[in-house]
Amino acid sequence: MSEYFSNIRTGATTIATGMAITFRHFINAVKRKGDAGIDDADYFKQVDGLCTLQYPGEAVPTPTRGRYRLYNDIEDCIGCSQCERACPVECITIETIKVTADDLAACGKTSGGQQKRFWVPVFDIDVAKCMTCGICVSVCPTDCLVHSPVADFSEFDVSNMLYHYGNLSKIEAEAKKRKVEEEKAAKEKAAAEAAARGEVPAARPAPQPKPAPGPAPESAGE
Ligand code: SF4
Ligand code: SF4
Repeated sequence: MSEYFSNIRTGATTIATGMAITFRHFINAVKRKGDAGIDDADYFKQVDGLCTLQYPGEAVPTPTRGRYRLYNDIEDCIGCSQCERACPVECITIETIKVTADDLAACGKTSGGQQKRFWVPVFDIDVAKCMTCGICVSVCPTDCLVHSPVADFSEFDVSNMLYHYGNLSKIEAEAKKRKVEEEKAAKEKAAAEAAARGEVPAARPAPQPKPAPGPAPESAGE
């Protein structure tokens, strides 16, 4: 008989405990956990409350050291192509045009004061292929290629994941290429005219011959 009443007491206690937990969550549901990101000092203090965010109007901030969608500040890009060569999946495509002497001022300098010597009409990053390894960012000499905080960049059409950062339109690029050809032709013409007048450009100093290799060292066993 005592076991009978003991079971009733256990059942009632269990139901009361469960209902207390349910009621506590019910009360907590009137407040929100907040949207502190993993970098935030309060992140682990957000214990109570709902964690649902009204995405995409609200989003958890991305960690500052996270590697997300790439961004190129083309104003600081010198067109060295190191990032393109370093990328293991070949998702960066760059085309450059040499800056002619009279265009150096127009091409400008980087924010670090370095003269830019290449136009970059094509600087495309296929972020659909990018695995955000960060190698390209680490080799960039001007720090213009960075991971942005944009973590959600899904698209219905994969072709929209090709990001263009080039600093010339197609028409401008064609004009710059013509200028390079004209500058080259002018230099060749000037050289030909100088040669016709008998003005031979100063010859470079001949390379010094390498010293003859010495006798082979005798082996220890001979
Ligand atoms: S992060 Fe890696 S995969 Fe993406 S473009 Fe840079 S090197 Fe290529
Ligand atoms: S490594 Fe940097 S500076 Fe060189 S082409 Fe790439 S983004 Fe431009």
